Amino acid sequence: MSVQSGIGIRSFFIMAKTVSDPHACTLDKIISLCKRRGFVYQASEIYGGQAGAWDYGPLGVEFKRNIQNAWWHYMTQLHDDVVGLDSAIFQHHKTWEASGHVAHFSDPMIDCTECKARFRADQLIEEFVSNHPETNPGKPVDTMTHEEMKAFIDANINCPTCGSKERKYTAVREFNLMFKTYQGPVADDSHLIYLRPETCQGIFTDFKNIVQSNRMKIPFGVAQVGKSFRNEIIFKNFIFRTCEFEQMEMEYFCKPGTDDEIFQNWRKERWNFYLKYGIAEKNLQWHHHDKLAHYAKDAYDIQYNFPIGFEEIEGIHNRTDFDLSQHTKTSGKDMDYMDQDDGNNKYTPYVIETSAGLNRNFLAFLCEAYEEQNVGSDGKEDYRTVLHLHPKLAPITVAVLPLMKKDGLAEKAQELRHALKEDFVTDYDQSGTVGKRYRRQDEVGTPFCVTVDYDTITKDSANYDTVTVRNRDTMEQQRVKISELTGYIHNEIKQWNL
Ligand code: ATP
Repeated sequence: MSVQSGIGIRSFFIMAKTVSDPHACTLDKIISLCKRRGFVYQASEIYGGQAGAWDYGPLGVEFKRNIQNAWWHYMTQLHDDVVGLDSAIFQHHKTWEASGHVAHFSDPMIDCTECKARFRADQLIEEFVSNHPETNPGKPVDTMTHEEMKAFIDANINCPTCGSKERKYTAVREFNLMFKTYQGPVADDSHLIYLRPETCQGIFTDFKNIVQSNRMKIPFGVAQVGKSFRNEIIFKNFIFRTCEFEQMEMEYFCKPGTDDEIFQNWRKERWNFYLKYGIAEKNLQWHHHDKLAHYAKDAYDIQYNFPIGFEEIEGIHNRTDFDLSQHTKTSGKDMDYMDQDDGNNKYTPYVIETSAGLNRNFLAFLCEAYEEQNVGSDGKEDYRTVLHLHPKLAPITVAVLPLMKKDGLAEKAQELRHALKEDFVTDYDQSGTVGKRYRRQDEVGTPFCVTVDYDTITKDSANYDTVTVRNRDTMEQQRVKISELTGYIHNEIKQWNL
C-alpha cells in the first residue's frame, strides 16, 4: 500500500494489551534494553531528542543488517527468478505524479482548536473504539468519509491532549505525507524534488532497463531494500512508526491472468519467511483490506502480535498494471512487455508486491525473542533476560570467554576468537564471573558462548585442545575440539529450526 484513493485511510490503532505478568515483554522493556545494550538510541538525544527519529547502535546495526541479509537471501538467492536493484532516493518529480503520490498520498488529520493538538482522525476513532467497543461508527474506519469521521469525533471523543469536553475540532483534512525539498540553489517549482515515500517506484521506472540488460523473462521479480520517508502526522511506539524508515520490497511482474495464483504463492512465501526466522505462528495473522487503494486488486497485511497488539509488519498487494501503465502515460515511454514465449504477445505486466518494513521487522523479531526466564532451582526464583534470536539474526554469533584472565587462558581465548572471526561475528569478554558473562550474552541473544578453561591448555588433560560451547536456549554445555569448532557451530546454525 502506499497511495490512497480520495478518502483512503491507513489503518492503525493502538490497543494496549493488559499486562498482568510482571515478566511479560512490554514495549518499555524493549526500549530500555535497546538503549542499555546499544541496539537503538533516540536521535539527537543530547538536544532533547528528534521526535520520531532513532539511531541504531553497535548491536542494532548488526541485527538490522542480519534481518536485511536474511530477507535478501530468502528473496533473491532462494528464488532464481528474483534479481536485485538499488535505485536512487531522489527520482524525477514526475515519478510521483505518475504514481499518484502527489495527488493522493495523504492521511486525514484533525486539530483541537483549544490546545492546537493534531491527530490522525482515523487513529483517534480506532483508539476510542478499542476502549469503548459499545460506541462505534457501525462501519470500518477506512470506509468513512471525512464528514462521517468529524461527526463521530464531535459526538464522542474529548480531546486526548487537553481533555476538553467542548470538542472544538477543525474539519478533517487530508495531509500529504511526502517530504519536499529543492535540488540546487533555486527554490522554485522547477527544482522541486521529493524524498521517496516508498522504494518500489524506482523498480517500475527501471523495468525496461532490467528486462533488456539482464534478458529477464516474465514472470520475474525485482527486490530492493532502502530508505523511505513519510511525514507522518503522529509517530509513536518507538521504531514502529517513524518519518524515516527502511523498506524491503519485491515487485513480481507477471502476465495478466496469472496474477491471482502468484499473489497467493507470495502470501505463503512471505508467511513462511517469518516462521523460518523464529516467529511463532500464533503471533502472526492476516488482515485483509476491506477498502482497497485505487490501484489494487487485492491486498493483505501480515500482522505481528506486538506488546501493543496485532499490527502490520508487511503488506502483500496485487497492484495490477497500474504503475507501469501510469509511467507509460506520464513519460510517453512504452513500458509494455513483448512475450516471446507467448507468440510475441504484447501486454502491460501485472505486479504482485511484497512490502516489508525493516524497522518493524526489527521490533517484531526483538519482541518475539524476548523472555524473562526463571532459571532458579529448588523453588527459588532467578530470572535471566534472554533474546531467543535465530542465530542468523543475532548481532553476535559467538562470544569467547576465558575462565580466568590469568595463566594464559586470556591469550588462548583471544587466539581462538581471532580464528573464528572469518566465519562469525564474535565478541570477547573476560570481566566478571562466567555466570555474569553468560547473562550479558543472553540478554543480547548470543547463541553460542565458547569458554576456554584449564583443560583447554593442559597438555595431559583428556580435554586438551577442547572448549565448552554453551547453547543460549538450553544452557547446556558441550565439549568440542577446537579443530572442529567452526564446523560444529555452522552445523548447529543449519540445524536450528529443524
Ligand atoms: P501503515 O498502515 O502502518 O501506515 P502502510 O500500509 O502505509 O503502513 P506500506 O505502504 O504498505 O505501509 O509499507 C510497507 C511496510 O513499510 C509496512 O508494512 C511497514 O512495515 C513499513 N512502514 C510503513 N510506514 C512506516 C513508518 N512510518 N515507519 C516505519 N515503518 C513503516
